[in-house]
Amino acid sequence: MIGAGVSGLSTALALLGRGHAVSVLERGEAGRESSWAGGGILSPLLPWDYAEAVSALALRSMQAFAGWVADVEARSGLAAEYWRCGMRVLDAEAPDAALAWGAAHGLAVEPRADGSLWLPEIAQVRNPRLIAALRAAVLNAGGTLREHCAATGVLSERGRVTAVQTETGTLPADTVVLAAGAWSGLGLAGLVPPPNIRPIRGQMLLFRLEPGALDTILYRRGLYLIPRRDGHLLVGSTLEDAGFDKSTNRDTAARLHAEAAALLPALAKIAPVQHWAGLRPGAPANFPVIDRHPDFENVFVNTGHYRYGVTLAPAAAELLADLIAGKPPALDPTPYRWEAALTRRWTGAL
Ligand SMILES: Cc1cc2nc3c(=O)[nH]c(=O)nc-3n(C[C@H](O)[C@H](O)[C@H](O)COP(=O)(O)OP(=O)(O)OC[C@H]3O[C@@H](n4cnc5c(N)ncnc54)[C@H](O)[C@@H]3O)c2cc1C
Repeated sequence: MIGAGVSGLSTALALLGRGHAVSVLERGEAGRESSWAGGGILSPLLPWDYAEAVSALALRSMQAFAGWVADVEARSGLAAEYWRCGMRVLDAEAPDAALAWGAAHGLAVEPRADGSLWLPEIAQVRNPRLIAALRAAVLNAGGTLREHCAATGVLSERGRVTAVQTETGTLPADTVVLAAGAWSGLGLAGLVPPPNIRPIRGQMLLFRLEPGALDTILYRRGLYLIPRRDGHLLVGSTLEDAGFDKSTNRDTAARLHAEAAALLPALAKIAPVQHWAGLRPGAPANFPVIDRHPDFENVFVNTGHYRYGVTLAPAAAELLADLIAGKPPALDPTPYRWEAALTRRWTGAL
């Protein structure tokens, strides 16, 4: 497994559960990139805004999440703070279409007298804690994790990869999974072509309030507020095409702060306690690539989850484990195929 973010660790756990031996290679420390930087909302922000195939994968994950996270917690002994806190969407465009989508897809979307929409089933997880729990669960299940060990290339013979090269040595491999997040698109020596993934930066602010100051996710026109149970509150985010640059800027912090304070006035009087940026593994229209590599029969990819990699983790891991096993998957895999990704292009909006 190349990459120890939520995609790599969840896939590793699924494969360990099916009896495989798994070694996870991580360039830095497990779960310190996008999977750490995100908000942990377990749903597309406006679920009705996505193609059916993206919704199908997301809804499957959302239904599985409570059970999946309970299993990860039981295996690790660590809490991931799953919380079904609901989400209020303010100023929704075309609310009638949103209500109809919810009814058709079995997701509660309720109109409120103030014109907002209430989605009571939307949950969140504290993503840094989920990653810590996943990491421990993988180790407890017998997986090996090599941190500070970047994969640099592969050796192959007749369409099969035989080994992964790292900065510190060469490791034999029967099967390789590329789950390197935003870096998946860089490829590795000998492993071309890479999937069509590009980094999309997102900046986040963190505040500290009294516990209970906000008890649901709030969303308005691209901005979201996510309360944690202990009073921490995240505000995000931006969609920036800035390459692999993870820097933050004050103007963005000021804008996010002002927009958040307009929704929750208590924020106007306090300063953020932290400001960071993460790099999402961007893919057009948020279609992940979950498939076998076109040129290597024993190389697979699980990447490109873009804005929703935490949400999609259980269903994407299950799908990839089924593909590796040659088992018919529960969902039609065609939309997430390598070939399908080649036909999709970025449009103007990120
Ligand atoms: C600001 C922000 C807000 C977000 N909010 C949400 C949200 O609310 N809900 C949600 O579902 N999703 C959210 N996301 C998206 C989500 O975080 C990502 O889709 C998800 O984390 C991607 O996981 P990943 O494992 O593919 O990538 P990553 O977490 O980036 O992990 C990839 C790992 O691969 C490693 N790696 C790279 N190259 C190599 C190599 N050559 N060798 C070894 N290791 C390598 C990296 O070091 C990294 O640790 C958000 C993202 C951001 C940035």
